[in-house]
Amino acid sequence: VSRYAENDLKFDLILHNGIIVTINPAFEILSDGYVAVKNGRIQAIGTKPKKGLPKAVRVVDAQGGIILPGLVNTHTHLPMTLFRGLADDLPLAVWLEKHIFPAESAHVTPTNVYHGALLGCAELLLGGTTTICDGYFFEDQVAQAVLEAGLRAVMGQGVIDYPAPGVSDPAENIRTAAAFVARYRDRSPLVKPSVFCHSPYTCSAATLQQAKALAAANGILFQIHVAETREENRAPYAKKHGSVVRYLDRHELLDRHTLLVHAVWVDATDIALLADRGCGISHNPESNMKLAAGVAPVPQFLAAGLAVGLGTDGCASNNDMDLFHEMDIAAKLHKVHLRDAVVMDAATVLKMVTIDAARAIGMAAEIGSLEVGKAADIIVVDTRKPHLTPLYNPDSQLVYAARSADVSHVMIAGRFLVEKRRLLHLDLPSIVAQVHRLSRSIGS
Ligand SMILES: [Zn+2]
Repeated sequence: VSRYAENDLKFDLILHNGIIVTINPAFEILSDGYVAVKNGRIQAIGTKPKKGLPKAVRVVDAQGGIILPGLVNTHTHLPMTLFRGLADDLPLAVWLEKHIFPAESAHVTPTNVYHGALLGCAELLLGGTTTICDGYFFEDQVAQAVLEAGLRAVMGQGVIDYPAPGVSDPAENIRTAAAFVARYRDRSPLVKPSVFCHSPYTCSAATLQQAKALAAANGILFQIHVAETREENRAPYAKKHGSVVRYLDRHELLDRHTLLVHAVWVDATDIALLADRGCGISHNPESNMKLAAGVAPVPQFLAAGLAVGLGTDGCASNNDMDLFHEMDIAAKLHKVHLRDAVVMDAATVLKMVTIDAARAIGMAAEIGSLEVGKAADIIVVDTRKPHLTPLYNPDSQLVYAARSADVSHVMIAGRFLVEKRRLLHLDLPSIVAQVHRLSRSIGS
């Protein structure tokens, strides 16, 4: 917590009259706090000075709510909002092969992807999410929606060794991913390109290595779904090396720029290896529960020092992108699974949608906590609600009682995108109407 240096310094904006959950290394919580922003960054943060607030162009009253860092969703497929509720309550293989893959091959067009992604952005912003780590096909159209919405994102064009939407010849998959990286390298301070391989069972070792080489050459994140189901460890290549994680390691795919999504079926040897390599983990409890994939050993990941962030996965397998609900589920899933009420306490889970999520995707220097010098990605939770009263512990309230609908204000890089629960720069009724129109052909 630091003070502004000069009395005559004028900030762009001050957000005040809130309980600030900083998520800084000391996990400080400041009652009657304020945050001062200039040029998109946090310039000062603290409890309200006795002599009054410093000067600012605009002063916004948080009305006693909880002020916290914008939430970070470490795994999304934004356009899959189009398939929300299309096929539920099915075994994973049937769900994927009989429903999702056919729906994707029929309906994943540039136009549909754009509208689905824009709907996703609206949902995310209204729920307090300010950064996502996304991967899909036609990722250019996803990026177009993200840029329009003003979200912060790490984005990867999907790589898969099968004909895919927009990449009919799999021999072009790495070239297509590389072109995406080149287009978005310096496009916007908010969008960072990455490389996203679907999985070890849909990409050959050669494809995985080329994709990782592309990511390494650009110093960007390599994302991959790994060990979501038990079957993945039964594949011949996985058996040969002892596990799918060890197979990936033998091909030098694991390092601190690799994000493993799911990592449900991993053993103690895998966990030690992942910790040694410094990989990030995206934990998607609702998706894993809905598809009956299993329970990732998250308390063991945390004990090993791994950076674990929560992700919602796509809307076909969740079926929403509400990180508040995901926190509640994450905390309770591991408690009941281990029959231990002590594991996954509220503060730990809160870090998994803020600083630890930022660590997992390599952005902890920029986002994930409210500290001087970091990007001004800030949200306010309106606590003037029956289900948020009384308020003893803000971290407990955020994890166990708050919902995405309680988010009143959302700011990214110092710019308000949501105020008093209203999207300022997106036309929500027309976005919703457009997706309803598209859904008529998808659902028929
Ligand atoms: Zn996924």
